[in-house]
Amino acid sequence: MDISFTGHRALVTGAGKGIGRAAVKALRAAGAEVIALSRSLEDLESLTSECPGVETVCVDLGDWSATEAALTNLQAVDLLVNNAGVALLQPFLEITPEAIDRSFDVNVRAAILVSQTVARQMIKRGMGGAIVNVSSQASQVALQNHSVYCATKGALDMLTKVMALELGPKKIRVNCVNPTVVMTDMGRANWSDPQKAAPMLNRIPLGRFAEVDEVVHSILFLLSDKSTMITGSCLPVDGGYLVT
Ligand code: NDP
Repeated sequence: MDISFTGHRALVTGAGKGIGRAAVKALRAAGAEVIALSRSLEDLESLTSECPGVETVCVDLGDWSATEAALTNLQAVDLLVNNAGVALLQPFLEITPEAIDRSFDVNVRAAILVSQTVARQMIKRGMGGAIVNVSSQASQVALQNHSVYCATKGALDMLTKVMALELGPKKIRVNCVNPTVVMTDMGRANWSDPQKAAPMLNRIPLGRFAEVDEVVHSILFLLSDKSTMITGSCLPVDGGYLVT
């Protein structure tokens, strides 16, 4: 199944590392113009040197006014990947207000702000578009020390569905992907300990964690014209973890 994004322009958040960075490269390889948004300038600089032609926006999505300002002159896009996220793990009884605020600001509030900006442009142009939110299996299953992270991803799943409901009549599709563990920086920080990883791996019918490209392929499918009747869905990319 060939997917081409020639003639399309995409915005990817959290594009400096991990899944977002790989999504930028895959979209570019498939012909899209791409705007890469992330927090660390050095990541964006190395991305543009590897991937010439990618435009960049450097902003902390946790800062609402800085993000609004950074998006003011954003060129219209018809594809959006809300990928930026943080995983600040704490036992429930030790959750701090700082971790709650940071997690919801980046994982939920920023997805709302960026999507509002992009969707308004899409509606103005009347051409429709597609949005993919990068959620997690943690939206649907309880994981030790993940209260706040699970809550943000549960919120993102429901945000996806309501956005699909309200934006569908404007020809904007909204879906999310829900990966299991992926060994990015985030995955390594939280799942490198074999003793912690083993029970998770044992519950995954396919017996392994996801590769970055497996998540990216699902994102590209949901952005593409191969999924034109799919909206409001939460697609597990979990090797079957959520069936158990
Ligand atoms: P990484 O930590 O490897 O990369 C995240 C990227 O997002 C980094 O470039 C980071 O920049 C950027 N980012 C984080 N916070 C902000 C912010 N406030 N403003 C702008 N950019 C920001 O994460 P992954 O690639 O693993 O994760 C991507 C998405 O996938 C996340 O939403 C995550 O929750 C989800 N996911 C990940 C899983 C995993 O196991 N890895 C499993 C399931 C879902 P910087 O480093 O400069 O902060």
